[in-house]
Amino acid sequence: MANNLINGTFDACRAVIAVFKDRRRSKTARREFWALGPEECTGMLNDIGMSAAEFDAAMHLPHASQDFLTLAMLSVGIDPDNFDTLEFARDHFLSRTCITCPHRRKCHDHMQAFDFEGHYRDFCPNSENFSKLLRKRCDA
Ligand code: SF4
Repeated sequence: MANNLINGTFDACRAVIAVFKDRRRSKTARREFWALGPEECTGMLNDIGMSAAEFDAAMHLPHASQDFLTLAMLSVGIDPDNFDTLEFARDHFLSRTCITCPHRRKCHDHMQAFDFEGHYRDFCPNSENFSKLLRKRCDA
């Protein structure tokens, strides 16, 4: 009984520490991004179809500093550096969808468990885009 209580408290503390660390990483990422200068930042945000306000809001989402798009592509069998992939991602705003995704915590947990590819169709807003990219690869 006492052991269960101690383990439960320990798990809760670890979870709180993880949230604080994640927030600190996101704050640092946001600060480093804006340190590049307003012109460069605005240009980069324009390229992915985001406003500065949307970007700042997205930086408050869980695991905001992590690039899940690249990990997700690799996980489902898409080459993120392929020219066609990069072109499709730009034209269909895949980065924007990923950065503003409301399921980043769930995404992170599946990435950690190495089972994203088995579950992403249930929650990932980019899943249809990934399917299109996979079909394009088969058609090529
Ligand atoms: S679930 Fe969300 S964060 Fe994860 S890959 Fe899909 S769009 Fe990106």
